[in-house]
Amino acid sequence: MTTQLLTTSQQDLEKAARLIRGGGLVAIPTETVYGLGANGLDPEAVRRIFLAKGRPSDNPLILHIHDAARLPDFCREVPDAARLLAERFWPGPLTMILPVRDLVPKRTTGGLDTVGVRCPDNDATREIIRLAGVPIAAPSANTSGKPSTTTAAHVLHDMDGKIDAIVDGGPCRVGVESTIVDLTAPVPRLLRPGGIGPEALKALLGELEYDRAVTGEVAADAVVRAPGMKYKHYAPAAEVLIVEGSAEAAARYVRAHFEPGDAVLCFAEELPCFAGLNPTAYGREADPASLSAGLFAALRRLDDGQVRRIFARCPSGGGVSVATRNRLLKSAGFRTVNAETKPSPSGEGAEQSEADEGASGRGTADGQ
Ligand code: AMP
Ligand code: MG
Repeated sequence: MTTQLLTTSQQDLEKAARLIRGGGLVAIPTETVYGLGANGLDPEAVRRIFLAKGRPSDNPLILHIHDAARLPDFCREVPDAARLLAERFWPGPLTMILPVRDLVPKRTTGGLDTVGVRCPDNDATREIIRLAGVPIAAPSANTSGKPSTTTAAHVLHDMDGKIDAIVDGGPCRVGVESTIVDLTAPVPRLLRPGGIGPEALKALLGELEYDRAVTGEVAADAVVRAPGMKYKHYAPAAEVLIVEGSAEAAARYVRAHFEPGDAVLCFAEELPCFAGLNPTAYGREADPASLSAGLFAALRRLDDGQVRRIFARCPSGGGVSVATRNRLLKSAGFRTVNAETKPSPSGEGAEQSEADEGASGRGTADGQ
């Protein structure tokens, strides 16, 4: 199959909508990451999404709608909390989990009796959904387990020849996936941090529990509320190790352990600390939105088959940084080392075993 490259001209959006209506696969730009879209009500079209990505079939897809008013079409119950959230955050990087109506195929929901729904903040994509006249089911448009795609070039790299078209809407503004909140739980539950910070959600909802998938590693055979969270994610071919502590302590640690084939992923402000180690900056520490926007592109740049190990710096703080930290931790298989407490080469044995222990717990199942 030849993958067509489309623009956001009205003519091309109509072409994209026709492809979707006809059961095809079209990569769509959103403010979070590129989505791999198909008619969410057509089980055969949805099946092709899983095939193109190599995605496990129990990992459900998010339904994208062009207007919050469509929510009751696909959800049996729409609680007040959902209306409030939609009013405040849509269009935007928030996915709500709600009870699903029967017209949504099991393939889309991974067999669950709930569905994730979102209204993306991208005019071109909302227009495609409107023109198609069906909700678009779309996971991130990357090969399963790899970092998500935030440019049309990334999508082409992973999906060329496997999908009908890619709509090039430029680089994604947020750069990490949507925040997922489960509104079917007794207390609203954060299943995945994302473009909307948890504090903003809590302020509106009054209460918010964090699912364990947000804070820690989940075994591949675990039964969890967000099935996608148990799989290996966002992982470049190289091993990622997060180095915590001050920039100076981190630079000392990295210099003591750096070997040929290693790389450094850091904040722009820290480039001088890592001078001589060919560091890659993914954004500015002082601008958390630049870090989320740049993370996946930087991980992909370092995923060139030459890099063996990536020493990565990870932001602290709330808002979108919760998501940036979550994605980096997952790409690292939760391997972290604190350069403040284990700064010197004399502590090498302890450092190594700490890193190795983290590595042994890493999920091996293929991810989304
Ligand atoms: P992706 O679009 O690739 O980020 O994948 C969609 C994410 O949404 C996955 O992590 C899914 O597990 C999650 N998701 C979608 N639908 C549901 C649902 N009904 N319940 C829980 N999580 C969901
Ligand atoms: Mg994904």
